[in-house]
Amino acid sequence: MKAFACGDVVPGCTRSFTAPDEQGILAQVAAHAGADHGLTEVSPELVEQVRAAIVFA
Ligand SMILES: [Zn+2]
Repeated sequence: MKAFACGDVVPGCTRSFTAPDEQGILAQVAAHAGADHGLTEVSPELVEQVRAAIVFA
């Protein structure tokens, strides 16, 4: 499993996600970013930040 803590990219956010693979994490993050952070588009830069912060769980 892989895990990602949104707070690693967005200071103060306490949401975290787990998924079997990176794609699963990114899909959840995209939905969360839109719903909770008002991001209508996940930029390549954001994807890079998220990928860099994904850890094995
Ligand atoms: Zn967040």
